[in-house]
Amino acid sequence: MEIAWENILGHEQQITRLRKLRAEGRLPHAMLFHGPDGVGKLRVARAMAAELLCEGADARPCGTCRQCRALLQDSHPDYYEIHPEGKAVKTIKIDVIRAMQANVERAPLLAAQRVVVIDDAEMMNEAAENSLLKTLEEPKGAVHFILVTRARSSMLDTIRSRCMNVGFGSLPEAELAHALALRGIPEAMAAELSALSDGSFGRALRLYDDGGLTMRDDAAAFLAHLGTFRPQDVFEKSAAMEKLPREKLSEWFLYLGMLLRDLLVLTEDGASLLLYHKDLRDRLAALLPSFPLARIEALLVLVRAMNRRLLVNVNQRLLLEGFFFRAMEA
Ligand SMILES: [Zn+2]
Repeated sequence: MEIAWENILGHEQQITRLRKLRAEGRLPHAMLFHGPDGVGKLRVARAMAAELLCEGADARPCGTCRQCRALLQDSHPDYYEIHPEGKAVKTIKIDVIRAMQANVERAPLLAAQRVVVIDDAEMMNEAAENSLLKTLEEPKGAVHFILVTRARSSMLDTIRSRCMNVGFGSLPEAELAHALALRGIPEAMAAELSALSDGSFGRALRLYDDGGLTMRDDAAAFLAHLGTFRPQDVFEKSAAMEKLPREKLSEWFLYLGMLLRDLLVLTEDGASLLLYHKDLRDRLAALLPSFPLARIEALLVLVRAMNRRLLVNVNQRLLLEGFFFRAMEA
C-alpha cells in the first residue's frame, strides 16, 4: 500500500495535527476519520499507520525500515485493514471484528504495536459495533484504531464518543483539477471533472474511468421529461435502473441533486458562474419555466431522502418506483 505523506492531496491541517500528536506520544488509541467519499481519508489512515509503525529516527514513515518495507508489500503482520464484505449488501460482521480482536490481544510480531484500520466503518452491523466498543473501552495491548467513515451519524454514539473525531472536507476545485491533470487527464476535461465531483478526487477518477458523464446526461434527460412522465414511464425507468449497482444508483441521484441545485442557482441569477454543469446551462435554462422554486426544493428533499435510503438494505425497485411517483407529484 501507499504510505508516503507526499502523495496525499490536501488536508494539511488534519495531517499536521495528527503527526504532532504522534511525535509527542499523545495520539489517542482510537480515532474516527469522517468526511465525504473519495477525499482521501483511507490514504491518510494508511500513512498514519505507517507513521506509527515505522522505526525511522527522523521523518516518518521512512519507507526503508523493515516496518515500512512490510507495509509497502502489504505483508505487515501487525497492520490490519478491515473492509465491508458481501455481494448485494456489504457489511462488516461481528466474526470479522472478533477475529481481529483475538489477534490484537496477542503481542505484536514485527513492530512495537499494532494498527487496525476499519474502512467504511458505518457498515458494521450493530453486533459488530458493540463488540468493537468493548475493545475501544478497554484496549488490551499496544494498538491504535482508525475508523474511517462517510456517515458518522449512522454509527453508535458510544463509538463516536470513544474516538478522537477528525473531520475531512472536500478538496478545492483548483487543487483537484491540478491533481487530475498530473495524472495525464487533458486539462479541459480535468477542469470539468473537478467541477462535477463535489471536491472528491475519488469521484472525479470514477467519473473519468466509467463514463459518469453518461449517468449525468441521463439524470438531465429525466428532468427534461419529468413533465410528461406517466405511470408506465415510472415502471420502465425503475426496471431499467434497478439493474444498476447500488453505487451507480447513488451516483445517478448525486447528479440529479447537483442538476437541481444548478436550477436553483439559475432561478436566482441566470448568468451565475456558480453552476456545477456549466456546459448544460442552456438546457437547464430551458427547463426553468416548468420548475418553480417550490418544486425544485421539493425534489431536492426527495433526492436527499433517496441518498439516505440507498445506504441501507432495501428493495431498489420499490424505492425507485416510490421516488419517481413522488417526483411526478412534486
Ligand atoms: Zn520506516
